[in-house]
Amino acid sequence: MPVPFADLQLQYQTIKSEIDGAIAAVIRDNAFIRGPYVDAFERQFAAVAEVKHCVSCANGTDALYLAMAALNVQAGDEVITTAHSWISTSAMITHAGAGVVFADTDDTTFTIDPAAIEAAITPRTVGIIPVHLYGQPADMDAIMAIARKHKLWVIEDCAQAHLARYKTQQIGTFGQAATYSFYPGKNLGAMGDAGAVVTNDGALAEHMTMLARHGGLVKHQHHIEGVNSRLDGMQAAILSAKLPHLPAWTKARQDAAKIYDAGLNQIEDVVVPAVAAGRDHVYHLYTIQHPRRDALAAHLNANGVQTAINYPTALPFLAAYSRLKARPEQFPNAHRAQGRILSLPMFAEITPAQQNEVIDLVRKF
Ligand SMILES: *Cc1c(COP(=O)(O)O)cnc(C)c1O
Repeated sequence: MPVPFADLQLQYQTIKSEIDGAIAAVIRDNAFIRGPYVDAFERQFAAVAEVKHCVSCANGTDALYLAMAALNVQAGDEVITTAHSWISTSAMITHAGAGVVFADTDDTTFTIDPAAIEAAITPRTVGIIPVHLYGQPADMDAIMAIARKHKLWVIEDCAQAHLARYKTQQIGTFGQAATYSFYPGKNLGAMGDAGAVVTNDGALAEHMTMLARHGGLVKHQHHIEGVNSRLDGMQAAILSAKLPHLPAWTKARQDAAKIYDAGLNQIEDVVVPAVAAGRDHVYHLYTIQHPRRDALAAHLNANGVQTAINYPTALPFLAAYSRLKARPEQFPNAHRAQGRILSLPMFAEITPAQQNEVIDLVRKF
């Protein structure tokens, strides 16, 4: 029996009438761009994310840009982010006009190492972008203490960690702003591109809204030069239909992770995801480490189990950052991880039978 990496069709089948109804309503109401479905989703998501304001936008990449642009990032500024993430996190620093400064990850959670942040601070540093990678919160107490000490802003990249908590506080509520992606495969996914940036700061929310809407809140009144980054009505209605299911889907991912943990952690050479004390992992990805990762992946794929590598090259070592001339010894943990990480099938609807098949194949390997 093949085991897919994720199964979006299966999720759709479980809530087909709700999704179909949402799409039909948007078409009926001609509410394609902005309008009541977008407003409703922004209100609902702000409530779920436990923040005052949600500014929807076209995708999670734009969300990062909008947050930094609204925080008035300037040429000559430096922004520190993790060496281990999807490229949006660092690329948007550049597009917002600042310089990217990478910090290594800690050696167990794959999230940014606060000690590496401290070491990377210069007089030009203006902010920090931690990523709650794979669904596990970064070490927010330590990061916020550094930010306070050095008067830096913090934008949390929550693209992989909807609903995760750090010591009872929901992620996305620690820094000045936090960004979400609703890319179809994310824990809360649209049926196309979608994103949002959230904040408790009303002035910042207004600035981000203006930036996302051609620089104005009222048609033909452009106060600044903005961009066009919209969540469309159809995606908003789909997200509103899915949002009430998110807690149960999150719980299902966590239950599936327990099955993997129990089945895999006795197998020689396999390192299961480590969850730090006080952190609550929502398992966007279930990523193990193995010294012979490529051979293990080939074995699983040959037997019908889809896997992924998130990500095969740590950010500082991508061609896009050749200008930084990064050396492996500057980012030893991220560099070591890139050759060892392997993400196993993980989605809310995965069955114990599918998981046992994955576990058995890993054991045989
Ligand atoms: C998915 C993702 C993004 C970008 O989101 P898009 O909606 O695809 O633009 C940014 N950061 C991280 C960590 C992500 O996983």
